[in-house]
Amino acid sequence: MKFKSKLLLVLILAVYVNAEYISYKDYKVFNIIPKTEEDVDIIKSIHKENKYIFWSDKIKVDSDVKIMVKPDEASDFKNYAESIGLNAKLVIQNVQSFIDAQLKRPLVRNSQQYNWDYYQTLEEIYDWMDEIAEEHPDVVTIIDLGRSVEGRVIKGVKIDYKKKEKPVIGFYEGGLHAREWISPATLTWLINEFLNSNDRKVRELAENVVWHIVPVTNPDGYKYSFTDNRMWRKNRNTANFTSCAQWNLDDDMSNGVDLNRNFGYLWMTTGASQNPCAQTFAGPVAFSEPESIAIANYILGLQREGNLVYYIGFHSYSHMILIPYSHVKGADVLEADNYGDLFEIAVKGAEKLKERYNTTYSVGTSADILYEVTGSGFDWVKGAARVPLVFLFELRDLGEYGFLLPPEQIIPNNKEVMDALVEMDKVARQIGYY
Ligand SMILES: [Zn+2]
Repeated sequence: MKFKSKLLLVLILAVYVNAEYISYKDYKVFNIIPKTEEDVDIIKSIHKENKYIFWSDKIKVDSDVKIMVKPDEASDFKNYAESIGLNAKLVIQNVQSFIDAQLKRPLVRNSQQYNWDYYQTLEEIYDWMDEIAEEHPDVVTIIDLGRSVEGRVIKGVKIDYKKKEKPVIGFYEGGLHAREWISPATLTWLINEFLNSNDRKVRELAENVVWHIVPVTNPDGYKYSFTDNRMWRKNRNTANFTSCAQWNLDDDMSNGVDLNRNFGYLWMTTGASQNPCAQTFAGPVAFSEPESIAIANYILGLQREGNLVYYIGFHSYSHMILIPYSHVKGADVLEADNYGDLFEIAVKGAEKLKERYNTTYSVGTSADILYEVTGSGFDWVKGAARVPLVFLFELRDLGEYGFLLPPEQIIPNNKEVMDALVEMDKVARQIGYY
């Protein structure tokens, strides 16, 4: 290795051991499996206290509930859980060790060789999109949805092979929640496959539809999750700053709005919070945030350009394909007029996804299989913009690593998702969506 590149490597490493970065050294994760509805209620009340960081908001009988606890509170937490009859099993000893594994960089880096062995920073993703636009000038255009709270471009690519007058259009939304790093890593993979794959079925999907793909719709939050706080979820709006001391949380928790609760469809009806310290803070009003406004305006613009058939959001984690609307369950799911088609398309996609690595995804509305929520982006796209085929993927895994998914799982995750999307498109065309 030449001296210059060694120096560069030292500089890169120095960035990642920045003293600003919140350390999760010795933070513990406990798993509790509620056995009765009473257990569920108790855990929900602990959740409401905001004192501990829940890795998932799904709290149901017989499902894993993972709770992260500060090192000095771990024994108190375990004793408290036992005193109220809950068995809290320690599943992660040191959260920081998983974060370190995710931040690992390849020893020799070459900007020409973008790959999916590690999690790319915002700058790397943006530079890469510029490069592929230069490499494929006939097909790829850079798209600009607007500016984030901190003034960053919300940037993506448009992939258009056929240059039709009124094309069939699809939109993939990634990285709305900052800490869900597998989401941007999936979308950059899909972009790359649409440009370079030789698989006939992938080529069909790439070329039949004009794709608008935005890997990081929350650029400020994504960057912040690399530089300051790995567990950051929201955007970085400081307008609602307040003290979070009464919940034993750092005040910085109030510097952000949950973008996936900020959209103007049944905003703040359920599953969202008006407390700026909460992970699910929906903002002071619907569409208070530039990022959610930018996405919504972009979607309305696409509908004027052609036949916008697809909107798919990518989140993590839970192995699910969610169908709108997120607040309805049981027979009420039929509130989405084409729920039957959406369900069939998603189930076929999940079956195909399973064939590659035996990963099992479940399908349903969020209220049915996860939790009730309103104000999410994809519900607005379905309910207000009336886009026909709207889905939300909850990617790998089931909580073993959660948001801290090891980089070795990026490519397997991406391959199985590609399988699902190809199959879903096949079924959608069979039904007659385009
Ligand atoms: Zn999410």
